[in-house]
Amino acid sequence: MSLFKMFAQAATFRHGVHPPEHKHATEGLAIERMGFVPEYVLPLSQHIGAPSKPVVSVGDKVVRGQLLAGPGGFISTSLHAPVTGTVTAIELRRHPNGKEALSLVLTTDPFASQRFVPTGPLGIPNTTAELVQRVQDAGIVGLGGAAFPSHVKLAVPEGKKVRFVLLNGCECEPYLTCDHRVMVERPDAVVRGLRIAMAQLNAEKAWIGVENNKPDAIKALRNAADGDPTIEIVGLEVKYPQGAEKMLIDAVLHKEVPSGKLPLDLEIVVHNVGTAAALADLFDAGTPLIERVVTVTGPGIRRPANVLVPIGTPVRALVEHCGGLLPGVRQVILGGPMMGMAQKTLDVPVTKGTSGVLALIDPARDADEQPCIRCGRCLEACPMHLNPQRLALMVRNERAAEVEALHITDCFECASCSFACPSNLPLVQWMRVGKGLIKQKKAVS
Ligand code: SF4
Ligand code: SF4
Repeated sequence: MSLFKMFAQAATFRHGVHPPEHKHATEGLAIERMGFVPEYVLPLSQHIGAPSKPVVSVGDKVVRGQLLAGPGGFISTSLHAPVTGTVTAIELRRHPNGKEALSLVLTTDPFASQRFVPTGPLGIPNTTAELVQRVQDAGIVGLGGAAFPSHVKLAVPEGKKVRFVLLNGCECEPYLTCDHRVMVERPDAVVRGLRIAMAQLNAEKAWIGVENNKPDAIKALRNAADGDPTIEIVGLEVKYPQGAEKMLIDAVLHKEVPSGKLPLDLEIVVHNVGTAAALADLFDAGTPLIERVVTVTGPGIRRPANVLVPIGTPVRALVEHCGGLLPGVRQVILGGPMMGMAQKTLDVPVTKGTSGVLALIDPARDADEQPCIRCGRCLEACPMHLNPQRLALMVRNERAAEVEALHITDCFECASCSFACPSNLPLVQWMRVGKGLIKQKKAVS
């Protein structure tokens, strides 16, 4: 079969867009470890859900891997010391989301050994409650960017069951290659973590969805799965936003998660490949989530790299580790160019959800806005089958009832509509405004 035919027939979801991939600079670079820096900043809120609650005080000496903050509720998780050192402050610091957030500040002890001493294999607990608790205690979250606490997806509510587990190895955001490298370099850990999740959920079958621009990852995972008939590695067409849960389910299982429903309603749970590796690290070595791989890349980075860094590493130090910014950089984004967050300063920390640091010299959406030409490309692009053009019009006119009726709450701000729009209209920004409008309407009614 010709290469063209193979790609043309690859499974995928409906709609979506094909932004330029830009992965060449880092996709072949092995993960490197960054040295320790004098200070780390850990926002108590770096996951979806309630902020973590500190269990240490200013002045406390802590060792790498020690618990610093426990979960603030069920949908919340723990935080651990990324280095051995001293808690020097608990204060407001700038968060990558642009706001000030209460954060633990850790000063590294330059004389202490920074080698993490894992507690050793924990073994798989006998009860679900214990396993879920251990995952929460280890601070594991979805490492694809959303940072949703992973234990929540392992705790199946009464009356529900899970038949299928999907692992997201798409990494469909342009530029990012951290998941790619984890799949190539740690395929056994990914498959091991998947098996732990499958056993916990009593799932009968799992798929790992990987886009076809990562043939080495597909091969490595197939070798690691070693012919296990319950684990299938599926090559997918390269398309954005295939890594989103509902799109991945559509691409791999050809099932549609209805509006307002969750994958669990279809007896499916989705995890990220990096998260699966973190589960293996926890149960096989006793390692909590204290570090992650970050892709540092873009035309404005002197030495692009995939770097394993302690959570809390200042972005400025990470950029310096990669040779610094080149002259003319106009935008630095944490995450990918489609859903990442543009930063005003490099003085923010790497959090559990930071998949990339992207430095752009020519930000894509610099051109002037033009009037809508009713071309329908935004409709074709929207993976949630919304009408972004009509929604934007209703939002501009503050017609909250119509905005709600057009299902704006299904929008997950993937920016495919903005990318597709030839008139350069900031459609995703209008979706955010529209959601605010609905919230406002609910607050006053
Ligand atoms: S940002 Fe929202 S409206 Fe636009 S394509 Fe994505 S899901 Fe659809
Ligand atoms: S893609 Fe842009 S120009 Fe085309 S219909 Fe949608 S909003 Fe209008």
